[in-house]
Amino acid sequence: MSERVIPLVDQRIASLAAAIPAQRIVADGLLSDALGRPLSDLRISVTDRCNFRCNYCMPKEVFDKDYPYLPHGALLSFEEITRTAKLFVAHGVRKIRLTGGEPLLRKNIEVLIGQLAALRTPDGQPLDLTLTTNGSLLARKAKSLKAAGLKRVTVSLDGLDDAVFRAMNDVDFPVADVLEGIEAARAAGLGAGEPGHSLKINMVVKRGTNEHEIPRMARHFQGTGIVLRFIEYMDVGATNGWRMDEVLPSAEVVRMIHAELPLVQLDPSAPGETAERWGYADASGRHDPALGEIGVISSVTQAFCRDCNRARLSTEGKLYLCLFAGQGHDLRALIRGGASDEDIASAIGAIWQGRSDRYSELRASMPTDAGTGARRVEMSYIGG
Ligand code: SAM
Ligand code: SF4
Ligand code: SF4
Repeated sequence: MSERVIPLVDQRIASLAAAIPAQRIVADGLLSDALGRPLSDLRISVTDRCNFRCNYCMPKEVFDKDYPYLPHGALLSFEEITRTAKLFVAHGVRKIRLTGGEPLLRKNIEVLIGQLAALRTPDGQPLDLTLTTNGSLLARKAKSLKAAGLKRVTVSLDGLDDAVFRAMNDVDFPVADVLEGIEAARAAGLGAGEPGHSLKINMVVKRGTNEHEIPRMARHFQGTGIVLRFIEYMDVGATNGWRMDEVLPSAEVVRMIHAELPLVQLDPSAPGETAERWGYADASGRHDPALGEIGVISSVTQAFCRDCNRARLSTEGKLYLCLFAGQGHDLRALIRGGASDEDIASAIGAIWQGRSDRYSELRASMPTDAGTGARRVEMSYIGG
């Protein structure tokens, strides 16, 4: 077995300026990047801290008690986040996902949710406002999140076996508490709706670690109205020591489930949707909506950059154009430097127009050491 390379370059320090273009770019919702992709999805990381230490994201050896997390003053305030989000919405964003780190660790997150829930698209529609969480605080917070205006949640859950789950979160957190959180979210109405707007469970699959949990997870969530999605283990960040041989291709996940619970492929629910949808079939081989569906997200084996309409706002206000970007554009410098809304919207417009990122499509043609990710920023900072 080859030794893992875990580079310790702090990529957060580097940043690109967010320049105000000489020619104003009006936020008219018609923005597109250099490859013709619109801007419709914004992920906002509200904290770089987490109470879990999932090995594929925040390995204990790196994220220990000496790790230099961002000081509170470096974080965008709720007012700064809401002001920035409003400008993104004017540019065409329809969906906002709060993430982190663990977003429920951010104090008074309900206040931010309330502010974002009040935003309207140019045609007067509320946003599709959602949040990704490890579920550890959900049992306590589901009701207040719903009351604040959150529409739905995605809960990360990498297995049902308590020992596997405790080993994967690496802080000995019991699976029963996350299951209780999922139940609380469902009871609070966080995700009661169409398949595209339902409560979702994300399972990161790591070959040799939790692949045996796949059929059990499928059986557990079949027929519950909850959509289980399997995510290929990705080479994000620079600290998880990613190796291709630990990626279990989604095609294999589908094969494994299909062998027990027959599946049929479904149409994508929306353009730019990252998950391939598979529905559970009835005895005649047709999709039975009562049995529900699963999704597979093949970020490694089947790139979907062509439709990537997502921007990411880091905890300290840098705009990242790709999950695998080395640097972000410093919007906070503009916000705190006194720039007007029009200037900031113009800067966002110019940055998006110049975007040509398509890392996953290019991964296959990169040098073999590319997987060490020496220049990439951590997922806990940029938001998943
Ligand atoms: N703490 C929250 C959680 O775990 O849901 C939100 C932040 S987390 C960075 C967002 C998502 O990224 C989670 O579903 C997590 O499983 C996923 N993720 C983190 N590292 C990953 C990796 N190396 N490959 C694939 N997915 C990853
Ligand atoms: Fe924390 Fe989420 Fe990363 Fe796990 S995946 S360490 S829960 S931020
Ligand atoms: Fe989007 Fe970058 Fe992922 Fe491609 S690699 S889908 S551009 S975030």
